[in-house]
Amino acid sequence: MGKGFFNVPIAVNEPVMSYAPGSPERDAVLKAYKEMFNSQVDVPMYINGKDISTGNTRTMSPPHDHKHVVGTYHLAEKKHVDEAIATALEARTAWANTPWEQRAAIFLKAAELIAGPYRAKINAATMIAQSKNIFQAEIDASCELIDFLRFNVQFMTDIYMEQPESTSDAWNRIEYRPLEGFTYAVTPFNFTAIAGNLPACMALMGNVVVWKPSDSQIYSAKVIMDVFKEAGVPDGVINVVFGDPVMITDTVMASPDFSGLHFTGSTFIFKELWKKIGNNIHNYKTYPRIVGETGGKDFIVAHKTANAKQVATAIVRGAFEFQGQKCSAASRAYIPKSLWNDVQKYVVEDVKSFKMGSPEDMSNFITAVIHEGSFDKLAKYIDQAKNDADADILIGGGYDKSKGYFIEPTVIVAKDPKYTTMCTELFGPIITIYVYEDDAYVETLKLVDETSEYALTGAVLATDRYAITQATEALQNCAGNFYINDKPTGAVVGQQPFGGARASGTNDKAGSAQNLLRWVSPRMIKETFVTPIDYRYPFLG
Ligand code: NAD
Repeated sequence: MGKGFFNVPIAVNEPVMSYAPGSPERDAVLKAYKEMFNSQVDVPMYINGKDISTGNTRTMSPPHDHKHVVGTYHLAEKKHVDEAIATALEARTAWANTPWEQRAAIFLKAAELIAGPYRAKINAATMIAQSKNIFQAEIDASCELIDFLRFNVQFMTDIYMEQPESTSDAWNRIEYRPLEGFTYAVTPFNFTAIAGNLPACMALMGNVVVWKPSDSQIYSAKVIMDVFKEAGVPDGVINVVFGDPVMITDTVMASPDFSGLHFTGSTFIFKELWKKIGNNIHNYKTYPRIVGETGGKDFIVAHKTANAKQVATAIVRGAFEFQGQKCSAASRAYIPKSLWNDVQKYVVEDVKSFKMGSPEDMSNFITAVIHEGSFDKLAKYIDQAKNDADADILIGGGYDKSKGYFIEPTVIVAKDPKYTTMCTELFGPIITIYVYEDDAYVETLKLVDETSEYALTGAVLATDRYAITQATEALQNCAGNFYINDKPTGAVVGQQPFGGARASGTNDKAGSAQNLLRWVSPRMIKETFVTPIDYRYPFLG
């Protein structure tokens, strides 16, 4: 097939647009938002290149205006999942044999479609479906997804170029085969980019995919599928099913051809899926690859030499952007007593200056949390903190779900460093702060390490280099992404490959070649040019 060693375009990060008042991108996204918000879309499933409507539908509503309906989506029965699997397997041979540059071209085209004609639409869809303000939508649905698509192509070629030594009489080659069978992508609500990347990166490496998006992200997942279709992903290569996650997963995992799970979501669900794979292990033709990026209890530790304003900004941005619904969001902080007065003053000032409401009003920094289940859970923890003797609410603590699922950004100050909200992932705009004695830095680092089952992101702020070194050593196992003098959020594809350890996942680093390696099964080919014709070695003489 190959008729050249092709260079791929050098991947560069997509620039983030400003959306400042009067900018053309602001006008475009507001126009798209209004049109989409004031109309209704019917979202069928997508199997073998065909739209599949089952008539069994659910409505979609923006979390910031939950009585307003923006469309419906269709739910799968078991037979649709079976069809998606069968279709993927039929498409496999042709897709796996498609030259890599053709696969690359499809996903590079998808990146350009998002960067250009689909940008306003995918951002508006993410503002509506997931209640992201425009900046959060832009850095996720546009920039990060574009970056994934572009950088993955580069990573794929880097992988293909990893080849063994050869000799004059034997040529050794490694072929990076796609997995035998079909793969399964299960994606979370919180990042449109992750929803697109999980199925796309497996498909890029030559795999066929059944993709189950989160119920709360289907509205923006539809735009991703439109992009993939227009970019030329062939029929059957990525098949999308919606509905009961247990039925869909059980059906997928009962297939002997199931060969890989690419999951992002909560830790409990990932462990359940791992268990199911284990229980079915005797039925599979191959050992399924399991990649899961899951929950976090991400920390900020300030040393007494840190700058209080910088610490406060790291807390405010790290904890409250996108309503704290980033897996990397700061949700516990450890502040030395000598800095606390200043830090709390700045945090309170900042939080008081936030505006909360619909993302359509671009002056709103905070919008709604994703759904009623999340709202109720967060409200429960806030109420508990109001009543508990070992916790105080510094600011926030209000909530209202009459129109949208609005939770005020809330800072809890815990007297007990193991207070429940210091340990549990809440996934909302709540951060808990523990104030420690200045000279208890080493003990505090130990506390940070031991307080949570997770190990996703974390940050240390200090000017004393020894303090930074101490934290870097002491916290080496409790964050897969560790930040020095920064907030613990905002990983950029190609710059900070992302993933955590311990209960936070398999740490296969989304946005790196390491992740793509999980979706291939190398075949070593040794070709001998002059084949021996006598079994006897010289030593036998
Ligand atoms: P979730 O676990 O509720 O859902 C994730 C996906 O799993 C969805 O598609 C959902 O429908 C599906 N699912 C739910 N129950 C299932 C079941 N019983 N069987 C099979 N599938 C099931 O997570 P979410 O609320 O969408 O996302 C938030 C979570 O994701 C948080 O815990 C967050 O930390 C995590 N997250 C982690 C990363 C990371 O990179 N580590 C990134 C984003 C989100």
